[in-house]
Amino acid sequence: MRLRNKPWAKDKLMEYPQYVIQEPESHRGKWDEIFGNDRPLHIEIGTGKGRFILGMAEANPETNYIGIELQPSVIVSALDLLIEAELPNCKLMNVDAAELGKYFANKDVSRVYLNFSDPWPKTRHEKRRLTYKSFLAQYEEILGSGGEVHFKTDNQGLFEYSLTSFSAYGMLLKDVSLDLHNSTMEGNIMTEYEEKFSAKGNRIYRCEAQFRG
Ligand code: SAM
Repeated sequence: MRLRNKPWAKDKLMEYPQYVIQEPESHRGKWDEIFGNDRPLHIEIGTGKGRFILGMAEANPETNYIGIELQPSVIVSALDLLIEAELPNCKLMNVDAAELGKYFANKDVSRVYLNFSDPWPKTRHEKRRLTYKSFLAQYEEILGSGGEVHFKTDNQGLFEYSLTSFSAYGMLLKDVSLDLHNSTMEGNIMTEYEEKFSAKGNRIYRCEAQFRG
């Protein structure tokens, strides 16, 4: 993600506590209080400018969504979309996904979305990939058995790595597409990167992986 520094972004995120979760650790184990209901919670890690998470929230009002993004200068664009859309089932969190267990207790979350995650192609950076085994262990902790990770990317190397990583972890691969936009999947919501890379002719890969009991 090309980053334009916006020094005011952090202040703006704090001005909208109804959309941007402040002190997320204080809601661990009680996210239903934030949404005012106990509907399933799906989170996207590395949500970028928010197109996907807002699109999902709009299409699925019976599900709660949180978009998690590390960079204030990026997530502030998602906030702008959310201020416009006023979706009650969508919130944003400006935190590092490396610490998910601080914010979510076991079974707080029922699905994790990873979309166009940074590929970190060098072997020495493997631990930074969001499908590395230490991240999978965190997802398992917050999802519990039966929880699912849905992953999309245009990066063939990252996709191959991730399939191997899911499988080595013992996850069940439920659905794999090597060309999402020419598949039978209905209701796909595009991300910013997906829009950009598919317009260039890149193939989009997708899979669903589930933690076993
Ligand atoms: N998902 C969006 C899309 O498909 O258009 C953005 C993709 S962009 C390549 C990856 C995003 O993940 C960046 O905005 C980056 O800041 C974010 N990110 C990377 N590592 C993260 C982490 N550990 N926690 C939260 N966000 C992270």
